[in-house]
Amino acid sequence: MKLFNTLTQSLQEFVPLDDTVKIYVCGVTPYDTTHLGHAFTYLTFDTLMRYLEYTGHKVKYVQNVTDIDDDVIRKARELGMQWDELGNREIERFLDDTDSLNIRRPDVYARATDEIERIIELAQALVERGYAYVNEGCVFYDVKHDTEFGALAQSIGLNDYQSMLAIANERGNFPEDKRKRDPLDFVLWQAQAPGEPAWESPWGAGRPGWHVECSSMSMHYLGQQIDIHGGGADLTFPHHTCEIAQSEHYSGKAPFVRTWMHVGMVYQDGEKMSKSLGNLTLVRNLLKEYSADAIRIVLQNHHYRYPWECFPEDLKIAADTAQLFKQVRELIGPRLDGENTMLHNRFIAAMENDLNTPEALQLLKQSAREALDTRDKNLGAEVLRLTGILGLTA
Ligand SMILES: [Zn+2]
Repeated sequence: MKLFNTLTQSLQEFVPLDDTVKIYVCGVTPYDTTHLGHAFTYLTFDTLMRYLEYTGHKVKYVQNVTDIDDDVIRKARELGMQWDELGNREIERFLDDTDSLNIRRPDVYARATDEIERIIELAQALVERGYAYVNEGCVFYDVKHDTEFGALAQSIGLNDYQSMLAIANERGNFPEDKRKRDPLDFVLWQAQAPGEPAWESPWGAGRPGWHVECSSMSMHYLGQQIDIHGGGADLTFPHHTCEIAQSEHYSGKAPFVRTWMHVGMVYQDGEKMSKSLGNLTLVRNLLKEYSADAIRIVLQNHHYRYPWECFPEDLKIAADTAQLFKQVRELIGPRLDGENTMLHNRFIAAMENDLNTPEALQLLKQSAREALDTRDKNLGAEVLRLTGILGLTA
């Protein structure tokens, strides 16, 4: 199978390190409801995992949940809730929404607040090795000390310190802090602010930074080098760029990740679907009108790497496709032993080509129509076997 590696900007033959494929995907911050952009990311890795298993691999899949951060604390205050009460509620909602879409749960669903001890150990080791420094109860990663910092950021055209700084300022994701030596330094451990939840550490009470939780969990649950690390394309910089720096200077092993996979953003009304814009298509609202299969199809009709805009017509077309597969089910009844080598091989070729689900679905649609026109139950049975690999339930 060929997968596109964001770090090398090339299609590479995928060869796992050993007999279990190790996948880590950055999860949600539980303060708001699952929208179609989230679903696109988690469905991509669900589809990949199903396909890898179909082709004979064992898979171990870890996803984190950032259950403590600025957004969770702020939103909980707005709602008059405890931060952990809000987190628990939103984690349940996220799992409900993804379950409803037949997106399988990861083998490990790890909370940042369960990772504190190991995060402290990681931060301490980076301080000892000179890659991090302590100031007023905070620990910061020392970007200028790390001459390799930013390799992944080059994949999105950020080729030097100045360009990283410019985009960081534009997006505001390296908050100003007079305790930092350099504006691009990022926090590994944050000293407690008045009224905020905190945990004990060698530097005083505080809480972990965001980037460090994923380094810590990935290495803890999957080992110091893994096969695939994924997430939304907006995580390339700074989040994944920072993860590489922390992990490789902690473990002394490179590469931390053999294949970086990034999922394109979903747009609506010409703008990126995001919490701040309020232009969300929430999964739970869509499920009132469309089946899980229809929603999976609208997402799988787009190649995972590219951004796309969701139009209402796309959902209607996907619902028709789901209906088409249902008709095939009615044609063949419960029998499942059909076979069509040509369709099977073409489907595999599409999937092997960087998980080309739009092409795979196109083939399945054509074959479904043909099976219905010619009352070909063998072909119909093959169509349904392959839609099953895509996680469809017709
Ligand atoms: Zn992450």
